[in-house]
Amino acid sequence: MKSYKIPDGDLLDAIETFVSVVDTDKCIGCGECVNLCPNECYLLEDKKSKLVKDYYCWGCLSCFYACPSQCIDIYQEYDNEGN
Ligand code: SF4
Ligand code: SF4
Repeated sequence: MKSYKIPDGDLLDAIETFVSVVDTDKCIGCGECVNLCPNECYLLEDKKSKLVKDYYCWGCLSCFYACPSQCIDIYQEYDNEGN
């Protein structure tokens, strides 16, 4: 399994497995990602965002664009054949 960073763009036309990653060092605990994620991928814990269901991410990018600290990245996973 190999991951590629997708910085922006419309991801909804691709049906693949998406993974969300949070840089907790930069997180200010605003809770936007927790409030916006349709799949409840995040929880706030000790005033930091914590991924609890990263494998449920469907790549909607709501958290990515809403995060004021730009500490969220969304990746799309591909198999070894690049599919
Ligand atoms: S991209 Fe969408 S589904 Fe994925 S973690 Fe962010 S808000 Fe949730
Ligand atoms: S939106 Fe960004 S800064 Fe706010 S809680 Fe989520 S990861 Fe942290």
